[in-house]
Amino acid sequence: MKIAIASGKGGTGKSTVAANLAWALARSRDVALVDCDVEEPNLHLFFPAATTDVPVTTPVPVIDPARCTLCGECGKFCRFGALAVVKDCVLTFPHLCHSCGGCTLVCPQGAVREVPRTIGRIACSRPLSRLVLISGVLNEGEVQAPAVIRAAKARAEGHPLVIYDASPGIACPVIETLEGSDFCLLVTESTPFGLHDLRLAAEVAEEVGIPAGVVINRSDGEDAATVAFCRERGLPVLMTIPFSREIAAVQNRGGLIAALLPGWEERFIDLFAGVSP
Ligand code: SF4
Ligand code: SF4
Repeated sequence: MKIAIASGKGGTGKSTVAANLAWALARSRDVALVDCDVEEPNLHLFFPAATTDVPVTTPVPVIDPARCTLCGECGKFCRFGALAVVKDCVLTFPHLCHSCGGCTLVCPQGAVREVPRTIGRIACSRPLSRLVLISGVLNEGEVQAPAVIRAAKARAEGHPLVIYDASPGIACPVIETLEGSDFCLLVTESTPFGLHDLRLAAEVAEEVGIPAGVVINRSDGEDAATVAFCRERGLPVLMTIPFSREIAAVQNRGGLIAALLPGWEERFIDLFAGVSP
C-alpha cells in the first residue's frame, strides 16, 4: 500500500505526521518512508542514520559541431530556453533542460546526442530495523524536482507499505508524488488559511483520482469550518492533534510524539487503520 501525505501549504506539520506514522507502523511491520520534498527534505532530522547515496542523473543534449548545420530547428523546438542557435554554434544551458528529448528528435543531421547530468541524489538509510528512509535531494539551482521524486519512489518499489511525504503546495512535485498512491492524507490546521489550502490540496487529490482523508494538526478546538468542509466533500477527518504545550515541546526538540507521549503510538496505528482498505 502507498500512502501520500500532503498539505496545501508549508508549516502544517505534514512531515511530523509522516514521521510519527512511519515510526508507529515500523514497530510491527516493514515500512519505507520516502521524502519527496526534494527541495527541502527534512525527515532525516527525525531519523538520523548513516546514508548510502546514489546520484540521480537526467539526459541533456551535447551538440556535435562537425554535423551541425546551424539550421535552428533545435532552438525553435526547445520551449525551456535550454538551447540557443547563434551565429557560429549552438549554445546549451543544461540547468534549464527538462530532458524531454525533443532536440534529439528534431535535429535533421543527427548532431544531438544525450549525456547524463547529475541533478541530485537519493540518500537511503535504515534508522530502525523495520524502517527504510529514502530521501530525494535536488541539487541547488536545479529545476527537475519531478525526476528526483520519480527516482526516490522507484527505490521504494517492492516494499509492502510505502509512505510518501510530499512537498508543500499543489505544484508539479506534489502531483508527481501523489501519482500511483492508494490514499492521500491531507494535513491541515484549523485556521482560515489552513482551510483555504486544504480546499486546494483536496482538489489536487481529486484530480489525481485517489481517495483522501484529513488530519487536523495543532487544533485549538475551533474546527467547525474545517469539519463542515470535510463533510461536504466526503473527506473523513481521521485524526485531530490538539495544540498543546506538551506536544509542542516534544516536536520543538525534533522528537516524535508517537515515541515519547503515552497513547500516541496507538492513535497513529488507528490512523493507519482509517486509511487501509
Ligand atoms: S531535451 Fe528538451 S528541454 Fe532539453 S534542451 Fe532538448 S528540447 Fe530543450
Ligand atoms: S537542429 Fe541539429 S543541425 Fe540544426 S542547429 Fe540544432 S543541432 Fe544543429
